[in-house]
Amino acid sequence: MSEAAAKRESTGVMVVGAQGRMGLEVRAALENASPLHLAGALERAAHADLGQTLPEGIRLLDDPKAALEGCDVVIDFSIPASTLTNLRAAADAGVAYVTGTTGFDEAGQRELAHFAERIPVLHAANFSLAVHVLAHLTREAARLLGDDYDAELFELHHAQKRDAPSGTALLLGEAIAAGRGQKLADHLVLERAGEIGPRKAQAIGIQTLRGGDNPGEHTVYFIGRGERLELTHRAATRGHFAVGAVRAASWILGRPAGLYRIEQVLGLD
Ligand code: NAD
Repeated sequence: MSEAAAKRESTGVMVVGAQGRMGLEVRAALENASPLHLAGALERAAHADLGQTLPEGIRLLDDPKAALEGCDVVIDFSIPASTLTNLRAAADAGVAYVTGTTGFDEAGQRELAHFAERIPVLHAANFSLAVHVLAHLTREAARLLGDDYDAELFELHHAQKRDAPSGTALLLGEAIAAGRGQKLADHLVLERAGEIGPRKAQAIGIQTLRGGDNPGEHTVYFIGRGERLELTHRAATRGHFAVGAVRAASWILGRPAGLYRIEQVLGLD
């Protein structure tokens, strides 16, 4: 095979946060994702391993421009500030971007959309197929049960998680609100302490737990009079998030600039 043909059949992936929990899972998933392969590895400045050659034969860098060389798509699980910086570099280089980073504020979300005018971008708070099926079921349950059933959400994640509530809990909260024809922001309750008085009708409460190494649990409660419906998802490992992100990276290649959704990749709409 000529060098040019080999290049066409190989897809270089840059992993942002390459030494992080999810970065390691993405790198493991790429081992079985031919023609996708690790072609760039990025970490934060001052990371202890910078400059080292990883087992895949790629050097760990902190300069996105250099790490993007030879890459067709980025997979990024890091922190919002890093994602926005590296999105800019990818947009300048014309490289597609898949990110699972959570914790963006509204301005950050607007910036994501802004970069998606220049390159294809996919941002998902959760890359699990089953979680998106749960969101679908949650929307339907909220629609069918209506306001007579009080909706509450519980989420549990490992002790190192930086943002709360989880992006997935917010996604499920949006599903409850959408099922009721409402906006989550108008009904979201994140804290209850002191003399809070009776529960507000139509409130959507989210309770956050943190501890240990749990990769993520979410339960949606619909609490009625004399009965309660619970819908639960439990992640046992992080590997399936990485497989979903690699699938999204393969799907997004060659698409026009725009902000894409994981539901499109998973065939859920
Ligand atoms: P982690 O702390 O283990 O890893 C993050 C990595 O990003 C670290 O190695 C850190 O050094 C690196 N980083 C920080 N700043 C950087 C920069 N400027 N450039 C390059 N790298 C940088 O965290 P994690 O558990 O892997 O989670 C990362 C993110 O992914 C979080 O926002 C988490 O909520 C999210 N997450 C999403 C999903 C999903 O399915 N969407 C699943 C799991 C985790």
